[in-house]
Amino acid sequence: MGSGIPELLDKKHHDRSDIMALLQCREEEAPLLFRKAASVRDRYVGTHVYLRGLIEYSNICGKNCLYCGVRRDNVRIDRYTLTREEVLEAAMTAYNLSFGSIAIQSGENSSKVFVDTIEELVRTIREMTDGKLGITLSLGEQSRETYQRWFDAGAHRYLLRIEASSEALYRRVHPDDDMHRYHRRLECLKVIQETGYQTGTGVMVGLPFQTMGDLADDIIFMRDFDIDMCGMGPFIEHTDTPLGERGTDNLFLKERFNLTLRMIAILRIIMKDINIVASTAMQTIDPAGREKAISCGANVVMPNLTPARYRAGYQIYEGKPGYREINESNVSGLNLDLIPGMSLGLGTWGDTPHFGRRINAR
Ligand code: SAH
Ligand code: SF4
Repeated sequence: MGSGIPELLDKKHHDRSDIMALLQCREEEAPLLFRKAASVRDRYVGTHVYLRGLIEYSNICGKNCLYCGVRRDNVRIDRYTLTREEVLEAAMTAYNLSFGSIAIQSGENSSKVFVDTIEELVRTIREMTDGKLGITLSLGEQSRETYQRWFDAGAHRYLLRIEASSEALYRRVHPDDDMHRYHRRLECLKVIQETGYQTGTGVMVGLPFQTMGDLADDIIFMRDFDIDMCGMGPFIEHTDTPLGERGTDNLFLKERFNLTLRMIAILRIIMKDINIVASTAMQTIDPAGREKAISCGANVVMPNLTPARYRAGYQIYEGKPGYREINESNVSGLNLDLIPGMSLGLGTWGDTPHFGRRINAR
């Protein structure tokens, strides 16, 4: 007979079958998993929720991922790019509200204008805030030179989700062409880490064709890669995409939500001192989704600072909330009453102890 959940939770090392057992534990056992993850978080990264102000820079994307509403072939959205002033204003909003950092995200674009503009924006934001506002980039696959230039300009974290660590699954949710190669994505992630960024990755939970084994392997992938940050969220169908045209059922969404909570909790227990995002996709399925993710071990949220008029343009999945949800009296948009013991980590970058240890070990 295998071990029970309490014994599994106390193990020092978890192998694939342990992870599978935790992913599939009985509903009544899940609170044990969640509580353990929260206590590991408290002990290793503390009881602060760090804020990254999200700036969705542009929805112009050269790629055609089969799940994403921003994909190149979706002609039903208006394409936009924020002006320089809009980006700087959003960054200053984050700074003035004492957010430790911002995250600039965008559809994928490698043009010279794009690369130069981002470089200049990063440099300007660093100058305007005396280097106090941390800058995360999530701008997809780029050349080694581009990653280096943005790093030299002052960005210090990069988030590139592997989306699915199984190559077979990756191929099923992307077009079969040279713009969408698993090995290139993996190579980019390595280059990001080598460049010196705090490196984040993650996956979607509940993709079509995904198995429990795939999810267990995703966790093992993140451990083996020794990531510093993770952003994971449930897959949510978008009707104007090949994988979403049949819509979905709320029951399935709820299941993906619950499975994502388990993924977060297990990852926290296995990679104790990394930063884990409570994603907006969680909030899309459940208004208290981010708070629930925090109760299961997450410690970062990304309040949206994109100007409201671009709302319709950045619907990566349907129903995405959170535009200008924040205000002076509630800078995170979170309901802190739902997460007793946790407080906002304001005015600090909120780096992970993990990154410091990883660099020192070199
Ligand atoms: N273009 C960049 C960053 C923007 S997309 C990139 O692809 O890396 C940011 C994330 O949105 C993706 O990594 C993906 O995991 C997520 N996403 C896209 N479509 C989604 C969907 N239908 N449901 C849930 N998450 C989705
Ligand atoms: Fe573009 Fe990113 Fe969406 Fe893929 S996931 S279509 S790269 S915005």
